[in-house]
Amino acid sequence: MRLVDGKNEDFMGFSVYNGTRDSLINKIKQDLLTGNKNIIIAVNPKKIVLSKKSSEAASAFHAATVHIADGVGIVIGARKFGIHIKERITGIDLLEGILRKIAPMKIPIFFFGASEENLVRAVDNIKSTYKEINIVGQCNGYIEEKSKVVEQIRNSRAEVLVVALGSPAQEIFVKEYCNELKNVKLILTVGGSIDVLSKRVKRAPKLICKMNIEWLYRMISQPKRIIENRFLLEYISLLLREIRRRGSRNNDC
Ligand code: UDP
Repeated sequence: MRLVDGKNEDFMGFSVYNGTRDSLINKIKQDLLTGNKNIIIAVNPKKIVLSKKSSEAASAFHAATVHIADGVGIVIGARKFGIHIKERITGIDLLEGILRKIAPMKIPIFFFGASEENLVRAVDNIKSTYKEINIVGQCNGYIEEKSKVVEQIRNSRAEVLVVALGSPAQEIFVKEYCNELKNVKLILTVGGSIDVLSKRVKRAPKLICKMNIEWLYRMISQPKRIIENRFLLEYISLLLREIRRRGSRNNDC
């Protein structure tokens, strides 16, 4: 089940949400009130490549109800196929928008992922930014037995769950356990967003975000991300192959 009928675009095997961040947040809020379950993942070149390489990752990604166009590579790639993505929605921007929306509603929320230190700092920062937020539990992402945290989430009666284990681990976790989390109506998989909210990892300056080169800033400021270069190159090669395939199909007609 996809979140908004008629507002998704098929792109490289993903059904990408094509609307504004505000309209998505409003729809998510409505679904929370009516009890419609949503699982949100942010699509980027790495996930497109992983989905072609691992059936486990692909099926975990496709278990989501909403795929947002997070990476600028997705927006540019989609344009090559004549798809105009209205607004790029990053995972962190969506998370912050949802926190702002649900805080006054007192909807119970649980945070799972990141190091203990970053998680504690992030939760402190969230509490001071969104004064009315109802955080009912938290657990760092390095716990060995995942079933223990599932128990913790269930007992907390959380309705919103934020999972930050990196990809594809977070999506695989969600697919494996979402049926056991009956009370949870909204799951957001957010990668490194807890690190950003802890303020120990800096987001790129606004101008760099506007120029759509946040990925470059991240690669330079966090050298471990150099490995993402590999995903980017593989993504470009997948895109070129798909463009050629479509071209030769059109020529055949
Ligand atoms: N992480 C975690 N448990 C693990 C591995 C990673 O909680 O076993 C956390 C890590 O501390 C970081 C996040 O997952 O906060 C991954 O962030 P990253 O930006 O690398 O995610 P991705 O690029 O895969 O979306």
